[in-house]
Amino acid sequence: MVTTRSVTVPPRSGRAVRAAAGDLLQIIDLEGHQVGDLWLIDAKDHGRWLSTGHTRDRGERMFPAVGQPFRDRFGDPIAELAADDSPGKHDMLFPPCDRWLYESVGLHEHPNCYDNFVAAAATAGLDLPVVPDPVNVFQNSAPEPDGTLIVGTAASMPGDSITFKLLRDVIVVLTACSVDYWPTNDMNCTALRLRVGSLAG
Ligand SMILES: [Zn+2]
Repeated sequence: MVTTRSVTVPPRSGRAVRAAAGDLLQIIDLEGHQVGDLWLIDAKDHGRWLSTGHTRDRGERMFPAVGQPFRDRFGDPIAELAADDSPGKHDMLFPPCDRWLYESVGLHEHPNCYDNFVAAAATAGLDLPVVPDPVNVFQNSAPEPDGTLIVGTAASMPGDSITFKLLRDVIVVLTACSVDYWPTNDMNCTALRLRVGSLAG
């Protein structure tokens, strides 16, 4: 019995899938150096979504270690980090890229993770009052010791992955980030693969 679903998220786009409590959720960087923005929304209560702020607060870390939880905006665990088969550079400080960011550098009508989230979420029947801050997998922007934030090129190589264990039924939204200027995605926006289920086979 096939218990794993695989969805490709094309460059500069987003996709939504439903997943069940107990499922594993794996995000694979197919070609390397590609950031993904990840949202998890409770399928039974759309008012509960993964909160990066509450995850940092309760965990007292910039990003959970393997086995530690990601929390919703009421502080309750919604998923945990199951495995990290990448260089381990991920971000939970930045919002999604949005039209206003691109307009600030003179790029108009540029694809962006904010709009891609809204469009993908709508396909799953979601209409949230805000766009939450995502978990930016593979984003290489950890704070420097002096507090500065420098966004580097994603360190992930082709085939690298990060895997979450889902603790509730959720709607997963993943966008393949649209930043096409140096350095975030190495000036080359590429696809991500999302796998959900037992991940066997
Ligand atoms: Zn983005």
